[in-house]
Amino acid sequence: MVDIDLQKIREDFPILNQKVYNKPLVYFDNGATTQKPRAVIEKINEIHSLTNSSTHRGVHYLSGLMTEEYEASREKIRAFINAKDKSEIIYTSGTTASINLLAFSFGEKYISEGDEIIISEMEHHSNIVPWQLLCERKKASIKVTPFDENGDLLIDEYKNLFTEKTRIVSIAHTSNTLGTVNPIKEIIDIAHSHNVPVLLDGAQAIQHEKIDVQELDVDFYVFSAHKIYGPTGIGILYGKQKWLEEMPPWQGGGNMVKNVSFNKTTYNNLPYKFEAGTPNYVGAVGLTKALEYIENIGIENIRTYENKLLHYSTQELKKIEGLRIFGNSKNKISVQIFNIDSVHPYDTAMILDKLGIAVRTGSHCAQPVMDHFGIDSTIRASMVFYNSFEEIDMLVEGIKKAQLMLQ
Ligand code: PMP
Repeated sequence: MVDIDLQKIREDFPILNQKVYNKPLVYFDNGATTQKPRAVIEKINEIHSLTNSSTHRGVHYLSGLMTEEYEASREKIRAFINAKDKSEIIYTSGTTASINLLAFSFGEKYISEGDEIIISEMEHHSNIVPWQLLCERKKASIKVTPFDENGDLLIDEYKNLFTEKTRIVSIAHTSNTLGTVNPIKEIIDIAHSHNVPVLLDGAQAIQHEKIDVQELDVDFYVFSAHKIYGPTGIGILYGKQKWLEEMPPWQGGGNMVKNVSFNKTTYNNLPYKFEAGTPNYVGAVGLTKALEYIENIGIENIRTYENKLLHYSTQELKKIEGLRIFGNSKNKISVQIFNIDSVHPYDTAMILDKLGIAVRTGSHCAQPVMDHFGIDSTIRASMVFYNSFEEIDMLVEGIKKAQLMLQ
């Protein structure tokens, strides 16, 4: 196995090689969004400079070219997650839109009064609120799988949540706060033994490990391009064809129709049935470039290196007196949420910022996780393969400085 060539990788990301407040930028906010390699930036620039044209609806040269690239991207994404057919790859604007699409459309078809939806206590708000909106509309209810003090889901409790009324399970593959990588195969197998389909929120998983939707036998898988080194404003909903065929459209407009008349409108085939309006072809092609970039480094190499960052940061952060890490699962990505005794996370983060270190503070769109620990907010440092061990040392030094100033 080849190790990571950090110097070369960092040269691929122009944004990383700058100073903020005259200090080298240390970017530890990768859980919110990742930076973009030159290949992605240049491709987007190339499209806008040379090939830009709306897809599918034109017979002219540029439109044909753009349509080809856009559909080749869909094929690339299909192969990346090993979906059976490219009609199972729906472009959306991101994870949030993918879950809202599913909650609406699946909900219209399969959820009625009294039905139940299983989620978990560690969900991002975007995997809670769309289901709550559905439940209000349909008079259905949500059941919540709790997690323990380490941040591991209580699988026995999950098993006990199933009833005759359970219609879908929607759970994070990997938590954006605790970092826990959930036992998804077990979660899926249990749900399937009750004939219940599963949606996995892959927003924090797809950039860290190989996903094979057929091997997992997962029914729906969603993610955002901007968290896997691609552009903002584009994401994916993967769904098994048998579900997508039966589900009604979510949004109406151009592209998602075959024939429109005032008497009767017919809908387009998959995947276009779920893609109303001018597509984000620039984003789709940009995402493809990001996936190629990742594949060139190798997702396994990325995973191995990020694991080292995780272990080093855990070891060094734990040496700081009064620092508590929340989320200590044995199966965790390289993200740390933590607080320091008697110092507010915002104050620490502001001092870190002045040192050039970008971390995130707040509830990280996961208020139930904060409630679990009886806190309002934490600091979050999320590390990826372009981060270094030296940057972790800088974070630790910065935290100690903040402690001295604030305690
Ligand atoms: N789920 C998880 C686990 C996330 O981390 C995020 C983004 N923080 C989302 C969903 C929402 O993703 P987006 O904002 O790209 O739609």
